[in-house]
Amino acid sequence: MSDSINEKVRCLIIGSGPAGYTAAIYASRANLSPVLYEGIQPGGQLTTTTEVENFPGYPEGITGPELMEDLKQQALRFGADIRFGIATATDLSAAPYKITIDGEKVIETETLIIATGATAKYLGIPDEHKYAGMGVSACATCDGFFYRKKVVAVVGGGDTACEEAIYLAGLAKQVYLIVRKPYLRASKVMQDRVFNTPNIMVLFEHNTIGLFGENGVEGAHLVKRMGEPDEEKVDIAIDGFFLAIGHKPNSDIFKPWLETDEIGYIKTIPDTPRTTVPGVFAAGDVADPHYRQAITAAGSGCKAAIEAERYLSEMGK
Ligand SMILES: Cc1cc2nc3c(=O)[nH]c(=O)nc-3n(C[C@H](O)[C@H](O)[C@H](O)COP(=O)(O)OP(=O)(O)OC[C@H]3O[C@@H](n4cnc5c(N)ncnc54)[C@H](O)[C@@H]3O)c2cc1C
Repeated sequence: MSDSINEKVRCLIIGSGPAGYTAAIYASRANLSPVLYEGIQPGGQLTTTTEVENFPGYPEGITGPELMEDLKQQALRFGADIRFGIATATDLSAAPYKITIDGEKVIETETLIIATGATAKYLGIPDEHKYAGMGVSACATCDGFFYRKKVVAVVGGGDTACEEAIYLAGLAKQVYLIVRKPYLRASKVMQDRVFNTPNIMVLFEHNTIGLFGENGVEGAHLVKRMGEPDEEKVDIAIDGFFLAIGHKPNSDIFKPWLETDEIGYIKTIPDTPRTTVPGVFAAGDVADPHYRQAITAAGSGCKAAIEAERYLSEMGK
């Protein structure tokens, strides 16, 4: 990291999803003059989806890009300084903290709000992109409602996959749980719940190699016991294909300074966005292995800004 400081700010927000923009709304209304860097995906994950039907305040639903533009405009209205740029390095060894933007500019900040989100993992088959928003989803809570009384598949064998399968079983007619291994990695309790749910069928030792359908997903091409002498091709008819093979929190540049769990989610003090470093807060999906929703991200962005204001006030800054 370069030593030359280009700018000093009181509140720096990294990320422009619901958490980052909400933090910017609250921080600017609290006179913290926040600077927000949008990163490579201005507006965050919701810009990749069409209808958002579960964000409060929009009785008819709203598209993801429109919702994020509304949040951005609301933050701009109160004077948030929103910029295009990516945080590429950090030095959180002592306050004020130093954040490098785009590998060149260094910003010194009294408080830092990390709202860099998490990215869903995909299998890596081209059809996942072909059918994005047309039957492929990485979030059962977000999209399950669209598959009421339909047939869906969930890919994965861990706790999250089991949770998603059980959630979807409450909505869909039939759920296939596609598991690569001959067993589930999930906890015993989750396994029992899956096996006791009549409309979940577990397909052990199946790999997904493709999806098919005219104007959306109509089925999946699977291979049973792939690579074995008795390997068998199996096609299943489905309306929706849910990935549940994990997320990658965007926390790499903060890891030298902050505690994370084994997956990389930033650890915060329970019920708060406070990290182990004073004045550094984490909000939204980057610190949330459990909910990963727009409204929970926005809520924690609000909390982070309130915490930043209180921290500065206590420090007399
Ligand atoms: C296809 C899809 C559909 C969804 N549908 C719904 C839904 O209907 N309802 C719902 O509640 N939730 C939905 N979700 C989940 C929801 O989008 C997330 O929970 C929410 O966006 C998380 O917000 P966030 O602010 O934590 O981060 P994100 O939205 O992930 O945004 C992260 C931000 O950080 C930025 N960033 C990352 N690294 C850096 C860096 N180094 N420097 C600067 N910036 C950086 C990115 O550019 C981005 O702006 C959906 C998700 C997806 C993928």
